[in-house]
Amino acid sequence: MLMTGEDYRESLRRYSPRVFVDGDRVESVADEPRLAPGVAAVGLTYDLAFDERYSHLMTARETTTGETVNRMVHIDRTPQDLIEKLEASRLVCREVGCAQRYLVGDGLCAIYQCTHRMDTETGTDTHQRLLAYLHRVQGEDLTIGIAMTDGKGDRSLRPHQQANADAYVHIAERRKDGIVIRGAKAIVTGAPYMHELLVMPCRNMTEADADFAVCCAVPVDAEGVTIVSRPAGRPGENAAKFSARYGQCTAVVIFDDVFVPWETVFLAGEWQYSQFLTSTYATHHRRTCIGARAGFGDLLIGAGVLMMEANGLDAGESPHLRNDMVELIKIVEGFYACGVASSVYGFQDPSGVFQPDGVFANIGKLLMATQIYDMHRLAHDVSGGLVVALPGPDEDHNPETRGDMTAMLATRPDVPHEHRMEVSRLMHDLTASDTAGWYSMISLHGGGSPEAMRREIYRYYPLEERRRLVERLLDRGVLDVDGEASRNRQPGRCCPVGCQVPETPQLSGPGAPRLPNAAE
Ligand SMILES: Cc1cc2nc3c(=O)[nH]c(=O)nc-3n(C[C@H](O)[C@H](O)[C@H](O)COP(=O)(O)OP(=O)(O)OC[C@H]3O[C@@H](n4cnc5c(N)ncnc54)[C@H](O)[C@@H]3O)c2cc1C
Repeated sequence: MLMTGEDYRESLRRYSPRVFVDGDRVESVADEPRLAPGVAAVGLTYDLAFDERYSHLMTARETTTGETVNRMVHIDRTPQDLIEKLEASRLVCREVGCAQRYLVGDGLCAIYQCTHRMDTETGTDTHQRLLAYLHRVQGEDLTIGIAMTDGKGDRSLRPHQQANADAYVHIAERRKDGIVIRGAKAIVTGAPYMHELLVMPCRNMTEADADFAVCCAVPVDAEGVTIVSRPAGRPGENAAKFSARYGQCTAVVIFDDVFVPWETVFLAGEWQYSQFLTSTYATHHRRTCIGARAGFGDLLIGAGVLMMEANGLDAGESPHLRNDMVELIKIVEGFYACGVASSVYGFQDPSGVFQPDGVFANIGKLLMATQIYDMHRLAHDVSGGLVVALPGPDEDHNPETRGDMTAMLATRPDVPHEHRMEVSRLMHDLTASDTAGWYSMISLHGGGSPEAMRREIYRYYPLEERRRLVERLLDRGVLDVDGEASRNRQPGRCCPVGCQVPETPQLSGPGAPRLPNAAE
């Protein structure tokens, strides 16, 4: 059954995770002020499902049960599903900055595809387990943390080569009724206020790494789980116009010999499937990140306009300010367009999941990851130095300075000084505070560092098709190498089935564009 934000907050009381924030043991996650902005942000994903303006985006019909479920825990089976998830991610993030929960559907889709493939190829029945788990998550409307990024230890070594085996979460023991896992996941967004954690491998594994190829679901309060978290956003800070209310924490999650029953184990040593699982998840997740950070871009664009207005300026009349705003819009809508393209040009996986196009998903995430700093620069340029120079809110009520400050820092008569200060503090919060740095880092590294995207773009891009295209066009025969093996060492083509243009009302019909299939 769908929960509201308040139901979700109350549901956290049913769990007793071992959580530390800034060195203190947290007794009740639902009541902890330092985690409140995170609970509020995730809560919005619940509330919007009941908002009639957005329920079409925030809910979906699960094919295998016919039930209406929250969009964030839905399995995407059509391009339309992907577009709606993208829009939903942008919607929640333009309200709360980062809402974490879209990761859940990305993880579930990838495990759905992986277990289906594994069962088909090896005759196991793991997919049925996943289905049972999925239906419980959807039925109870749970929120799940993605615990993928291991501690990793020495980056130059594979998991089995690490001096400390706990640098990667691994299977410490196999029992008749389940497995015991141990090790650390280093960065888990929202961990304290999740219901469960989805442990997933963070890289491809070799046979020697088989014990590290583990994917399973663990309740946050399972025995042996410890969550060491930062506060979510900037709780309690008066100057934090945005992130005192909404923000996310990140946490280290320690698994100290945690027992996981087989019912929620989806990968236990099948190292050959580790790469498929991680890269499938990465493609789903990078596409979703695009939607999420486009929501953050909406906030910067709006705050930029307000700052200029408060300064008495109009971008339409000042070419350099207009250029800055156009540049900001170009960046945000440019990477968002890649998210849309990735949704439309994906392909139907044999499991029935609609897998986003890898080239567009990775390009969009790469653009966003590398241009987030330009977004901040542009927002700073249109705003002016007040963003970091304005005295703190405690000064606002100082009788000795308030009068002079209000009079002497006034801009135009129709913009109250208080309004300008509010907008300036909002811009500071989004672009120059500790939280702003958090948004830069999640844009850069969240979902994988830029190099991971570059590798995937090269892997998926149909270079061979482009090579053959040019050979065909060269009419002088100098490059007529028919029958000769290509020297191109690029590993693959864009996807297992080649480029497909899906049947959508916008794209189908006579005269509709049709790109050559890379496999043709
Ligand atoms: C705010 C935030 C929220 C996040 N939320 C989550 C979450 O909810 N769940 C989750 O699982 N993860 C999460 N992540 C983790 C994210 O996926 C990782 O940060 C990302 O994959 C990079 O891993 P890393 O941080 O360990 O950096 P590293 O892997 O240490 O990378 C640092 C640099 O070293 C390079 N590098 C790494 N290994 C090698 C090598 N062998 N050879 C050469 N170069 C190398 C990388 O390319 C990069 O340039 C989050 C990250 C951030 C910043």
